[in-house]
Amino acid sequence: MTRLPDPSVRPAGLADQFGRVARDLRVSVTDRCNLRCTYCMPAEGLPWMPRAEMLTDEEMLRIIGLFVRDGVTQVRLTGGEPLLRRSLVDLVAGIAALEPRPKIAMTTNGVGLERVARGLKEAGLDRVNVSLDTIDSQTFTQLTRRDRLADVEAGLRAASDAGLTPVKVNAVAMRGINDDSVADVLAWCLERGYELRFIEQMPLDAQHAWDRSDMITADEIRSQLSDRWELTPLPAADRGSAPAERFLVDGGPATVGIIASVSAPFCAACDRTRLTADGQVRNCLFSNTETDLRGPLREGATDEELLALMRGEMWRKRRGHGIGDPDFVQPDRPMSAIGG
Ligand code: SAM
Repeated sequence: MTRLPDPSVRPAGLADQFGRVARDLRVSVTDRCNLRCTYCMPAEGLPWMPRAEMLTDEEMLRIIGLFVRDGVTQVRLTGGEPLLRRSLVDLVAGIAALEPRPKIAMTTNGVGLERVARGLKEAGLDRVNVSLDTIDSQTFTQLTRRDRLADVEAGLRAASDAGLTPVKVNAVAMRGINDDSVADVLAWCLERGYELRFIEQMPLDAQHAWDRSDMITADEIRSQLSDRWELTPLPAADRGSAPAERFLVDGGPATVGIIASVSAPFCAACDRTRLTADGQVRNCLFSNTETDLRGPLREGATDEELLALMRGEMWRKRRGHGIGDPDFVQPDRPMSAIGG
């Protein structure tokens, strides 16, 4: 039996009661987005956060600095669409100046990346994940409600040219929409040297329309890909806290990842913590609670006081996300306002 740490003895840093320690901080830099992916947002968008509620760069950097001081080694910028934050390059430069310097990654839809990839690299961005669910332009337009596939392709090329490597592509497969072409997306990525990862669709849509029975599972994706390639699982020991089960494609060196967030959750190895654009710390994507840092910060809280709040939020992280439990309640915040 796994021995759990004694909850009355709380270790320093961003630890929880199940022995996990947060090292990977996801920062949502804005909740706004320029696509309207049907599984994420309604066509008309969402009521965006008022500017006054959003952290300024200075506030965001102070909080990220505290996370780094408390053991975070990787910062991933996300949203909403992170490229819509006008000061993004400066924010990246500010994070890169922290000591010890964390690794800096970004999850983006790639629209507009062509223009800023080099500037982001020069500011200190290390890697990007570009979300792309289909390489068919009609399906892309149907799925995102915007005709921007060419921009995403240009963004991917620019990321690769700028050395934001390895360039990863994230794809969600949806029944009746793009599930018959997952192999085409992999073939396309293999040709261009992008590392593809499929992610199971999760109950985080603003419309609350997710239905487990409709979800394309990791097993289905693996089976479809196996019709075209030989997939060899990489040893689980190489996985660490990474959520993707990775496979060599036809003996390698190319790989493909499959993230079974719902059908085989990786919560036991989760090392993530989250900061929303309006200054809330969340210990899980699916958490129904969060801790406000913005209020205390604007009222003059000291670093020690803010650290205590951050640690408190992490300490109450639950053992697992609980999707599938009878008492599971989807969080009020949609994915776009949490930071995917
Ligand atoms: N706009 C950026 C992008 O598109 O990458 C960052 C934010 S977006 C919310 C991050 C990722 O979440 C995207 O890859 C998107 O496909 C994924 N996503 C959104 N809703 C999802 C859901 N319900 N289940 C699984 N992934 C989802």
